Amino acid sequence: MNAGLRAGDWRLDPLVDGSLRLDGGAMWGVVPASIWRPLTPPHDDNTIDLVCRAWLARRADAVVVIEPGVGARWDAKLAARYGIRPGPGVVAELAAHGLAPEDVTHVVGTHAHWDHIGAQVTERAGRLVPTFPRARHFLPASEARVTRAGGGARRASYRREDVDAIADAGLLELTSGRAEILPGLVLHELGGHSEGVSVVTIGEGSDGAIFWSDVVPTSHHVQPAYVMAFDVDQQKSYDVRSHWLARAADERWTCLYYHDPLVASGRLERAERGYRATDSRSAEN
Ligand SMILES: [Zn+2]
Repeated sequence: MNAGLRAGDWRLDPLVDGSLRLDGGAMWGVVPASIWRPLTPPHDDNTIDLVCRAWLARRADAVVVIEPGVGARWDAKLAARYGIRPGPGVVAELAAHGLAPEDVTHVVGTHAHWDHIGAQVTERAGRLVPTFPRARHFLPASEARVTRAGGGARRASYRREDVDAIADAGLLELTSGRAEILPGLVLHELGGHSEGVSVVTIGEGSDGAIFWSDVVPTSHHVQPAYVMAFDVDQQKSYDVRSHWLARAADERWTCLYYHDPLVASGRLERAERGYRATDSRSAEN
């Protein structure tokens, strides 16, 4: 599926770490159920299917994992609450590309929610260790600060050990604002969904791509007002989404989705009202 997308000099491949189910109403905020139910049909308990799809970005010697995934450190109670199902798993997906965890040179986290960076830490012999032991791990400083402070309305979305185990191993590098991690691979701190949630751009112009993270969680969340109830700053989310959705459409970037269970990537087109997402798997011009 979508193997070998390109963005400039970069080659991009999806890596499915796991899946989960979250409340459809929370994923859609103030959007009426009559609109969102046909787009993301809910189960009987009102949850909708989501995946956690990391992206592998490769260029020359760089092996980058963008957003490692939800990971496997779950007790039965929490796994049931969030419908978490591990697998295939980011490590197994890398192996299918002939890569070992030690081969990963960079890990990029857009924010510190456990369903995005949990997979960067592995439990081994009762200790929490980095899954990718040689990788430089990047994360917005604002997200590390919120994770360590604890408390707050979204405290259930953070686990301190997801960040501390990387810092303890000397592998954590904190960013702020715009951070060019490698040539053409840029982390842009935006906020809205969380304190420092970021998008990642890869390449430039019509040849470029954007990893949306939770700024645009699925290919259906492409109207600026479709802000999730989870977002800590709704107005900021709206502003950020308005700006970046327009940019992605105008620059014809390939959009990379983290949570969409069916559409891994595609482009955005301006529609009569708002935008329309296309799927890379279907014929594109
Ligand atoms: Zn999030």
